[in-house]
Amino acid sequence: MNDLVPAEGTPLLIGGKLVPGGSGVFATINPATEEVLGHAANASADDMDAAINAARTAFDTTEWSRDHAFRAHCVRQLRGAMQNRIDELREITVGEVGAPVMLTSGPQLEGPIADLSFAADLSENYSWKTDLGDAEQMGINSRRTVRREAVGVVGAITPWNFPHQINLAKLGPALAAGNTVVLKPAPDTPWCAAVLGSLIVEHTDIPAGVINIVTSDNHALGAQLVEDPRVDMVTFTGSTRTGRSVMAGAAPMIKRTFLELGGKSAAIVLDDADIAAAASYTAFSVAIHAGQGCALTTRLLVPRSAYDDAVAAAAAAMSGIRAGDPTKPGTICGPLISAAQRDRVERYLDIARSEGGRIVTGGGRPASRDRGYFIEPTVIADLGNTSTVAQEEIFGPVLVVIAHDGDADAVRMANESPYGLSGSVWGKDPDRIEKVVSGVRTGTLSVNGGLWYHADAPFGGYKQSGIGREMGVAGFEEYLETKLVATPA
Ligand code: NAD
Repeated sequence: MNDLVPAEGTPLLIGGKLVPGGSGVFATINPATEEVLGHAANASADDMDAAINAARTAFDTTEWSRDHAFRAHCVRQLRGAMQNRIDELREITVGEVGAPVMLTSGPQLEGPIADLSFAADLSENYSWKTDLGDAEQMGINSRRTVRREAVGVVGAITPWNFPHQINLAKLGPALAAGNTVVLKPAPDTPWCAAVLGSLIVEHTDIPAGVINIVTSDNHALGAQLVEDPRVDMVTFTGSTRTGRSVMAGAAPMIKRTFLELGGKSAAIVLDDADIAAAASYTAFSVAIHAGQGCALTTRLLVPRSAYDDAVAAAAAAMSGIRAGDPTKPGTICGPLISAAQRDRVERYLDIARSEGGRIVTGGGRPASRDRGYFIEPTVIADLGNTSTVAQEEIFGPVLVVIAHDGDADAVRMANESPYGLSGSVWGKDPDRIEKVVSGVRTGTLSVNGGLWYHADAPFGGYKQSGIGREMGVAGFEEYLETKLVATPA
């Protein structure tokens, strides 16, 4: 592929050394062409054990967790090392993830690298100690200080859809806060994580064992990381189903779990909005990266009186987007990550048809492509909010358009979901918008197209979309413990 990827496959990073996997190698596939791009080290359970041991030793025996300035320096070095190899990283991201190259100048690559600065700055500038002042209790006057300290060894488990964004939104704050990390990326996108290994070893002063990268095609290594008592915290992004297993695996040790899970977010269009514009924008956004985004608004709730016009506008926007070659600068909808994911989306399209849904545009594989895991951007109409495709996360370029009977009904339907990750509101009257904003039970909301993604903006979910917040100061503090120290005043 390029110089960042060794011909024999990307190695693991364990205890500061680049090492082969105990279970050989596994293939990484280009989802746009179905070609084998190359191989990644396939870690064994022993490799995972060694990685956890290295992270534990680095945390317990070095000054890493106490040297805030050194950590800021190291995180900046990692950012610089990635920036220096941006073209190779871009090629890997487009090849392995099937991410449209257009997105690599934003959240698929360059955005999260730049955002490492936010974490590094926090390491230097955060108030690690807060003086609470004196207080008397039972005749003893005490001076109290609140100290914030690293949690310890963090197990980071990540998915494939935005691998750099999610790997770095965990690594950056976890390291800046003073933790050591074992990163286990998704089997579909091992290279995006593994190539960090040589950059860390060759271009940073990050001490041995502080970051360990364990690629594997075996999900059981994720469970091993969760269940190992030497790991103090698990930070997980993935499906709600796997999130439940992670919580259950961590429960016997009352281990801290930070979960970023699935979504089925609603775009609420009020009757005073430019309904066609809101419908087109929402349809367009759901086609980005073939709909493989947890926070996309995949339910479009529109006033019943304008339903046909909204469906037509959404379909016009979707039918203008071709699922295509992600290396082309004009592509916004590339392939799905795998044949399994494409099969899953097709199953949902069959379910929609069987429940009485009308496929207005799209509905299957593009006739023009005989290779690659593509699905045409699809609009489904004539289903209610309790239909399967309105309730379950599809993770494909599929929008369901649903009629509502007024603002309160729209809020009720938005909340009639196990998830609560994101959403949007479209309208003119600020009082009505405010009522919707305060009524929707979700972690992130866009009003009239406002963009919420930024390094300083906390992101995460209500309900079954997760526990905790990534990014922002809140995302940094997820990786901190609180220690209160009292001394005689
Ligand atoms: P997944 O849950 O199948 O896998 C995620 C990771 O968990 C992978 O690394 C996998 O190997 C690992 N894993 C699997 N079983 C495990 C177990 N029992 N214990 C520990 N680890 C295990 O998810 P996916 O298919 O890779 O990603 C898609 C999902 O991720 C979607 O549901 C999407 O909504 C969600 N997601 C959420 C966010 C967010 O911030 N809320 C962001 C991106 C993706």
